[in-house]
Amino acid sequence: VKGFEGKTVAVLGLGRSGLATVTALQAGGADVLVWDDSPNADEKANDIGATLRDLTKQGAFTDVASLITSPGIAHLYPEPHPAIARAMAEGCPVDNDIGLFFQSFATQEWDNFSTMPKVIAVTGSNGKSTTSALIHHILEEAGRPTQLAGNIGRGVLDIEEAHDGEVVVLELSSYQTDLARALTPDVAVFTNLSPDHLDRHAGHGGYFAAKRRLFAEGGPDRAVIGVDEFEGQYIANQMSGGPGDDRVIRVSSGQKLSGAGWNVFARKGFLSETRKGRQVGSIDLRQIAGLPGAHNHQNACAAYAACRALGIGPRVIEQALHSFKGLPHRSQLIAEKNGVRFVNDSKATNVDSAAKALAAFDKVRWICGGLEKEGGLDALLPAPTVVKAYVIGREAGVFAMKLKGLDVEVCGDMATAVAKAAADAQSGETVLLAPAAASFDQYDSFEKRGEDFVMQVSALE
Ligand code: ADP
Repeated sequence: VKGFEGKTVAVLGLGRSGLATVTALQAGGADVLVWDDSPNADEKANDIGATLRDLTKQGAFTDVASLITSPGIAHLYPEPHPAIARAMAEGCPVDNDIGLFFQSFATQEWDNFSTMPKVIAVTGSNGKSTTSALIHHILEEAGRPTQLAGNIGRGVLDIEEAHDGEVVVLELSSYQTDLARALTPDVAVFTNLSPDHLDRHAGHGGYFAAKRRLFAEGGPDRAVIGVDEFEGQYIANQMSGGPGDDRVIRVSSGQKLSGAGWNVFARKGFLSETRKGRQVGSIDLRQIAGLPGAHNHQNACAAYAACRALGIGPRVIEQALHSFKGLPHRSQLIAEKNGVRFVNDSKATNVDSAAKALAAFDKVRWICGGLEKEGGLDALLPAPTVVKAYVIGREAGVFAMKLKGLDVEVCGDMATAVAKAAADAQSGETVLLAPAAASFDQYDSFEKRGEDFVMQVSALE
């Protein structure tokens, strides 16, 4: 990281991104102080050659140029971590690894303006990982050098220095965009907005504000924006220079977008691209196995649009869509036994994504439950594709009671739910794990929950 040579920088949190931040700052010649709430913080600091300082103490920031915090640490709501509160009180700028990345990237010098590396940033409530991975996959298939980082897999400061012609694809969560002091992608993608993660952003307005920062004044050259909610329409409207302007590519799943601008939409299983009122491209999405359901058609449209913004041809994109395997734990086809499909969508941790997953299949034996999120379950009902629900989780009984009007069985654990659903399922039906809840009551993560599902499925006779 450039710009901090000889300066003192503090890093809060020594998880994966914190450690990568320390390494990157040290490589740039900064003097790094660290703080972490865990009891073995001094050991961790020693291991990486950084100085431990209690950043919650008065005067901790007098000689500090910047505080870099980690994504898991609250910076504003419900209340700032004491070290962040201290930094703010003492006038020390607070930033994160994303801000450092863009700051460094922007100050790099390139020989040739037209071939300099580009950054695509993907944000939104749902579909970020799928869309980011899909963009990355299309670029690879198109023969463009590309790196994928951010909320997905690799930390942004772990990526290697980008070279001419390269495209860096970043998946950004709202926490990351909220805090980053620099956010200057070439192409910004907004997938959609659902009322998830409200706790740390002071409600709906704050959450939307955090996402919107990517599209602020002087923002990206191109924006790909899902316009199926008013919030998306609002951003598109603010960025657009009027009819025919193609700075914004509007994306929809379900609506036929008209207008003289640049549009990509999916309807009845077909993707269409229109520009200045003319049809430019079209793809039959029903043939694409790795992207089932209307929600994945939305992801396909967003990825298609982002790649079109970089000048990649429609046919190349179409071919790449066919070879996309999907991501683990997102509408992932695990097995087919006696005509019954088993699909792992453990990542469907909120009501909106679970509803999308349920709508992607015809007759569903639905495994759900876990740590319920705010807002209740009513938005999922009446859930017409569900034949029967098999409820897991520590509070499975309470969860089940809220699934009004559905045939429900309280199972408690995954093994019981998979066994019962599999025993009941008829040929042509789908056993779907789409919990509509967080996993932390029974698992360390949604990945562990998905792995348990896969294991129980493979243990079936
Ligand atoms: P994110 O990275 O934003 O959490 P993912 O691509 O990991 O998004 O998908 C998370 C879950 O949300 C998936 O398991 C799927 O059920 C659902 N989902 C995926 N794409 C969409 C979308 N475009 N709209 C609504 N739900 C979606």
